[in-house]
Amino acid sequence: MPLKLFNTLGRLKEELKPLKFPAVGMYTCGPTVYNYQHIGNYRTYIFEDVLKRTLGFLGFKPFHIMNITDVGHLTSQGDEGDDKVEVMAQREGKSAWDLAKFYTEAFLQDCSSLNILPPDVLCRATDHIQEQIDLTRRLEKKGFLYLTSDGVYFETAKFPDYDKLMGKSHLSGIQFGARVSASPEKKSPSDFAVWKFSPKNQKRQMEWDSPWGKGFPGWHIECSAMAMKYLGETFDIHCGGVDHIPIHHSNEIAQSEGATGKPFARYWLHGEFLLVNSSKMAKSDGTFITLEDLRKKGFDSLDYRYHCLTAHYRKQLDFTWEALESSKTARRKLKDLIGQIGQASKKPACADSLNAFKAALSDDLNMPEALSILWSDLKNGALPEGARLHFAETAEEVLGLGLLDEKTEEALSPEILELIDARVLARKNRDFARSDEIRQKLLSLGILVEDTPSGQKWRRR
Ligand code: AMP
Ligand code: ZN
Repeated sequence: MPLKLFNTLGRLKEELKPLKFPAVGMYTCGPTVYNYQHIGNYRTYIFEDVLKRTLGFLGFKPFHIMNITDVGHLTSQGDEGDDKVEVMAQREGKSAWDLAKFYTEAFLQDCSSLNILPPDVLCRATDHIQEQIDLTRRLEKKGFLYLTSDGVYFETAKFPDYDKLMGKSHLSGIQFGARVSASPEKKSPSDFAVWKFSPKNQKRQMEWDSPWGKGFPGWHIECSAMAMKYLGETFDIHCGGVDHIPIHHSNEIAQSEGATGKPFARYWLHGEFLLVNSSKMAKSDGTFITLEDLRKKGFDSLDYRYHCLTAHYRKQLDFTWEALESSKTARRKLKDLIGQIGQASKKPACADSLNAFKAALSDDLNMPEALSILWSDLKNGALPEGARLHFAETAEEVLGLGLLDEKTEEALSPEILELIDARVLARKNRDFARSDEIRQKLLSLGILVEDTPSGQKWRRR
């Protein structure tokens, strides 16, 4: 069964044909480590993790590189403003190096709680300054660059296919050209810095000598330099969020293909946004939600992972606490269904279930469909218990939802689960006498329920 993936380059679902089957080179843009990542960022990392697990599941051998941006990402989308890491370091009273280390560790812990598998190579921009300088030199030799008073710039007009990733129609309302640059020295608003000079009267914490002067690399060049170092000049898959299509990824393509004259990544996959109140969850507006916020409200990180899998990665997902609560309940019920199957000793392969599951994955990672197949086959009493258990165990390799984890606090009896659901319904119908009655009943069974602005919560007494 061919694996079909939607390639932003060309905007078609295409069969994945890696350069060196079964190996698949895969690069995913990692975090800028100046703050916690929010759950919108994690939606993208979860999609990329599902992609990687799917590749392994379908017989490919993914080799995955992820970068850590610890220098060069400026506060504007263009080339103005200050370095995000240096600004935040000053605000938090830490060195830029310590700040980057702190948020890198926080990121890795969050990923682990989300069952996101670690990359084969996790590479920091600051560990690859020489590679970035070397790539900049190649571009200079080929005549793509020009100097301004604040840095070395890539002249996008010299790369004929600069807008090939953007296509004609556009996603998420991001318009090419909307990022108007204030710099009067740029030849075109879409030109971008590959090397920035340190300010004349100020010493940066992170700065390096270069053939053009003391300074630091532009944000985009790190991904080109590191992707090519670990995966070769042409490789298979490159991913990120849709916001990267018109700027970051278009710039990566221009620099890489400008330098080598060869195609850079062959398949570009982009995850859609997590929205909050109908607009993109973003760090800049200060209202973003972290995994820690979720945990404080009694959610497990894996409830959020489940929530992400209920929407296709190319569709926007509007975040609400109520919807997350439903996902939490659904994950718990799925675990209970599996728990009820028990410990069947014989586990015959469940070929039909597995084939349907694979077909859903192979159709551009249709996770909502894959989940619904799991649900209906687990509930299907006509299938032998062992086959159902085998299917659940196999599906879990891709889903990573902790469905087989033995967590005693999750193992509620069907009677309690029914009561919890019945109370939600009673409150919805404003039948408070009934909801109080159920609360007492649950209390006698050792479960305390509380009503919060985001819905009913329960815990063991
Ligand atoms: P950043 O740390 O801003 O470079 O973002 C890390 C990753 O998260 C990138 O792949 C972004 O495209 C992605 N991203 C940022 N905001 C969102 C959002 N609201 N929903 C989904 N992905 C996002
Ligand atoms: Zn990148």
